[in-house]
Amino acid sequence: MTNSLPVGRFAPSPTGRMHLGNVWAALLSWLSCKSRGGKWLLRIEDIDPQRSRAEYADLIRDDLNWLGLRWDGECTQSERYALYEAALQRLTAQGCTCGVFRSRQERLAVSAPQATGTAVPTDMPAARKPATGLLLPDETLAFYDGHYGEQRFPLREGGDMILRRADGAWAYQLAVVVDDALTGVTEVVRGRDLLPSVPRQLYLYKLLGYAPPAFLHIPLLCNEAGQRLSKRDKALDMGELRQHHTAPEIIGHLAFLSGLQAEEQPATAEQLLPIFDWGLVPKEDITPFGSPTGGRRPTDVIQGM
Ligand code: GLU
Repeated sequence: MTNSLPVGRFAPSPTGRMHLGNVWAALLSWLSCKSRGGKWLLRIEDIDPQRSRAEYADLIRDDLNWLGLRWDGECTQSERYALYEAALQRLTAQGCTCGVFRSRQERLAVSAPQATGTAVPTDMPAARKPATGLLLPDETLAFYDGHYGEQRFPLREGGDMILRRADGAWAYQLAVVVDDALTGVTEVVRGRDLLPSVPRQLYLYKLLGYAPPAFLHIPLLCNEAGQRLSKRDKALDMGELRQHHTAPEIIGHLAFLSGLQAEEQPATAEQLLPIFDWGLVPKEDITPFGSPTGGRRPTDVIQGM
């Protein structure tokens, strides 16, 4: 028996307070699966031990609750290392992994220490373990994105594909595939900056024998310099936004940006469920000054709310 109800997810990294761009991804992912009666999972992606903080994970949960975006299950990557280890062992047993040294100097020191005319000092990275990478065939992989249509990217674009860092930390690409597959995610909605990662993730799905989800990437919300909003853009982070706006104002504003409302007006996430339609969501990034291809202006609209 197949279960056709979608399972979506939101997978924030707890490295700072969410900003409007994170909320935009959360809302579209929530609407996409909830409008079809599906489940929506929250996954805290805290695999980077240097940058992740439990306080930020708490703030993410608090902000999502405040916005009315309720989730049906939750997991935390730092509690799932054994699953990544098992997947890595399977890939290694298949002969698909290799040691990767990050810099040319590190590679040289290991492959031909005599070339530098000096012995490798013991404090040099070469004396440490290499990162573990995935061997990638020289192929271009085509796939269908549910929002952007046919895509093609060379698997090797982007350099080495690290699965585990030299310091032992797990890498995003492995963790995201293992988690989406093992938690039954059928639909991945996230910013289009991650589109080029899809072929590598699909390749991992294939090697690990998992069924891949549908991918739907969304345009990016950009700051006034035209760059993707980041946690440094404090004016649009949830701490700041919550001081000046109600949750329906923020959700209503995002509904306006996503084409679900013709005008700027407050709305709850629940109220948007019956009108959600991927066909209305723009494909162009949304910049504060409006893009020539039809983007809208998040900052000045939100200031006027
Ligand atoms: N943790 C990633 C981020 O916050 C999301 C990755 C994904 O959705 O696949 O950018």
